[in-house]
Amino acid sequence: MNNPTQIANPRILMIGAGGVATVAAYKIVQNLDVFGEFMIASRRKAKCDELVNAIHAKGYKADIKTAQVDADDVEQLKALFSEFKPDLVINLALPYQDLTIMDACLACGCNYLDTANYEPKDEAHFEYSWQWAYKEKFEQAGLTAILGCGFDPGVSQAFTAYAAKHYFDEIHYLDIVDCNAGNHHKAFATNFNPEINIREITQKGLYYENGEWVETEPLAVHQDITYPNIGPRDSYLMHHEELESLVKNFPTIKRARFWMTFGQQYLTYLDVIQNLGMSRIDEIEYEAPLADGSGKTEKVKIVPLQFLKAVLPNPQDLGENYDGETSIGCRIRGIKDGKETTYYVYNNCKHQDAYNETGMQGVSYTTGVPAMIGAMMFVKGLWRKPGVWNLEDFDPDPFMEQLNKQGLPWHEEFDKDIEL
Ligand code: NDP
Repeated sequence: MNNPTQIANPRILMIGAGGVATVAAYKIVQNLDVFGEFMIASRRKAKCDELVNAIHAKGYKADIKTAQVDADDVEQLKALFSEFKPDLVINLALPYQDLTIMDACLACGCNYLDTANYEPKDEAHFEYSWQWAYKEKFEQAGLTAILGCGFDPGVSQAFTAYAAKHYFDEIHYLDIVDCNAGNHHKAFATNFNPEINIREITQKGLYYENGEWVETEPLAVHQDITYPNIGPRDSYLMHHEELESLVKNFPTIKRARFWMTFGQQYLTYLDVIQNLGMSRIDEIEYEAPLADGSGKTEKVKIVPLQFLKAVLPNPQDLGENYDGETSIGCRIRGIKDGKETTYYVYNNCKHQDAYNETGMQGVSYTTGVPAMIGAMMFVKGLWRKPGVWNLEDFDPDPFMEQLNKQGLPWHEEFDKDIEL
């Protein structure tokens, strides 16, 4: 049941004020002909205010409200939603908060969009089942939930849906290839939230073949893949959430895999971090000095990975000296009119271009821009239907058109060697 009417002066509430949220905020104020009232709420209001000041300092005159909210607390969220009355809540906090924010959306009649699927804090495990379980509730409430509207997940699914719509009768082989050939000139840093990033990378690999999921040891499978304007880079097979919905929505797929590049230095540090126990997500007891200067100590509980996050560079501060570019795309093999055909669709994004526009590096940029475009699709009524949806459930065409306009242009190659 599509509703093609555009919401006039929509009320948009964004939760989170980190790297991805910063980019999305810039993109929202660049599109004020579509978006109306805009509020940014996060764990620390000061961070939201800093972001608004930075946006104003760049010459944007938008009136942006800010608020403090703990998105782990449904009651706090409900109080905020009841007061601001958002048409759409854009969740750019962490995957831990997906379900509490969805619960509050249901309670207050708000639509929902995020960029990463739910993960419980105490288990490094991600899958869609938790959020798909909300489908009926959103349907009954007449509300739309758009899941995973970043780059990957996100654009990778729009790319696949676009390929299926325009170039294939059947998709048989899908490889999502994600290269970051940038250099931030730090010994070790992650490109998005370090806690979430390290949890993701240290998991076992998983891919889909002939109707079954095949597990691999973490980062055990790798090969060189050649990226446009970059060249060959060692790429590692990983589990990635969008594979789960893509093989369900495109049942002709025989094999689906996800590849990501890592430099040798990054992997060496990661190895050390794991061997030292610093990637642990369980609580340990630690005798810590009190902050009051009394010299007394007290036993506290800390999660090593959260402590590591506190000492690693903040991904939001990497942009200034970041050079090089990202290249993310889909390499697809399948059948059109009885003939085997291949298709490669990708975007390259330069870290410095992202920094000059938003103060953030390319990984935040490639996530924040699609989040804004997804919100735009919802507001325009192009992606609005009661239920809980992944990106390939929607028409990819208007979204793909906006990628070209909003800073993430894409390119196509037909019937070339796709290496995989
Ligand atoms: P950051 O850590 O930079 O930002 C997260 C923000 O959420 C911070 O402002 C943080 O507050 C706030 N926050 C955390 N917990 C709470 C809470 N309980 N209540 C309210 N606010 C909270 O992360 P990123 O911007 O790098 O990533 C944001 C999201 O994007 C993540 O879910 C990540 O997985 C996803 N992502 C998706 C990608 C994709 O392609 N689909 C790629 C990259 C990231 P504070 O500032 O106080 O810490």
